Amino acid sequence: MPITDMQSRTVVVIGAGPAGAIAAALLNRKGHDVLIIERQAFPRFSIGESLLSHCLDFVEEAGMLDAVQAAGFQFKNGAAFACGDQYSAFDFGEGFSQGKPSTFQVQRADFDQLLADQAALQGVEIRYLQEIVSADFNAAQPVLQVRREDGSQYALQAGFVLDASGYGRVLPRLLDLEAPSDFPLRRAVFTHVEDHIQSPPFDRNKILVSVHPEHRDVWFWTIPFSNGRCSQGVVASAERFKDKPEDLDACLRAFIDETPSLRNTLKDAVWDTPARTIGGYAANVKTLHGPGFALLGNAAEFLDPVFSSGVTIAMRSASMAANLLDQQLRGEQVDWENDFAIPLKRGVDTFRAYVEGWYDGSFQDVIFFKDSQPEIRAMISSILAGYAWDLRNPFVSEPKRRLRMLTEICAGEAS
Ligand code: FAD
Repeated sequence: MPITDMQSRTVVVIGAGPAGAIAAALLNRKGHDVLIIERQAFPRFSIGESLLSHCLDFVEEAGMLDAVQAAGFQFKNGAAFACGDQYSAFDFGEGFSQGKPSTFQVQRADFDQLLADQAALQGVEIRYLQEIVSADFNAAQPVLQVRREDGSQYALQAGFVLDASGYGRVLPRLLDLEAPSDFPLRRAVFTHVEDHIQSPPFDRNKILVSVHPEHRDVWFWTIPFSNGRCSQGVVASAERFKDKPEDLDACLRAFIDETPSLRNTLKDAVWDTPARTIGGYAANVKTLHGPGFALLGNAAEFLDPVFSSGVTIAMRSASMAANLLDQQLRGEQVDWENDFAIPLKRGVDTFRAYVEGWYDGSFQDVIFFKDSQPEIRAMISSILAGYAWDLRNPFVSEPKRRLRMLTEICAGEAS
């Protein structure tokens, strides 16, 4: 396809999801010229519906908090966990870190459109149905090739590129930056239902994470929305799917049927939406930045959905990158490794320690431990609320050691 024109912008953001919308709005608010290129038309479905409190700090920084609060999303004040007859609920309002005590559970089609519309209202140009198809970072300034819906292409020169393309992983693919994830291959099957959930102790203000009674590495999310519906999904490793039906609806129902507490919670649900699946989502990269670019959100690393940390990490990376890029564009010397990659990874690694502990069972023992001290529950609660960068929290500053200590205490008390 011949290239018909060449355009030039200060900052080009790839993708209008949460990372892209927040980064673009922040740079625009600081007076920089920003263009978002988005492959799809909005609204569009996305997985990742349970938010953490910390992500609202970035929504607020981007001047979008009033709009999000007025949108009628489901209020969320914590996370609840169930395993057989064990039940444990954490309230974000009782956390150790100072921060927002609550957040929302959102249909991402609506939420992502709201953020993108807010960015556009603030002055960010968004070009929907245009896709970045190649990138050249060898010249003095990066040049991206953009393909329009009709197949025509143009070249886009950028002072700096922020890749917020999520699972599209545009620059990791084009610049050979992909690296294997440490996590095994897992898969999720999920749908939305008319839930009709009545039974206590179900709390609509919390995500419910249920553990399979036989396989502790198999877990379910139940994320209530404000319209009487909820998102219901199961996550399991590839081998756990071997004896399950291929049909996705039947597969999801089969996992739920094996889990009495959840089966009972959902006994009146109306299953009116075909299930979907996503697998092999854990991903990593060799670097988070390079000359003329930085990677945000899922375009960089994605760990695991169990603690609903994806959107929070995406927004945190967007805020950190936007603030550093602002300094760079104003002519200051900046250090992307020390002021972006290393501090961002610190919080990601905190989540990683607890995700690993979830799947090896140690963190589940801590979560369901009946006699845990309120101060310890407060520290865990803050991590579950997304405050995984607060180094004053000992469970953030030395997650592995603290988790090991707690596991030993739980094992000692149980024996
Ligand atoms: P996205 O939201 O994926 O946005 C990227 C955008 O880039 C898309 O709109 C896409 O169309 C666009 N794009 C892609 N390629 C191109 C291209 N070539 N050119 C132009 N545009 C392009 N997170 C949570 O916080 N809470 C949860 O409860 C949660 N549950 C999850 C459950 C599962 C099973 C999985 C797999 C993930 C879950 N996540 C959750 C993670 C969450 O989905 C992501 O972390 C989050 O959506 C990342 O946001 P983003 O802005 O980085 O990317």
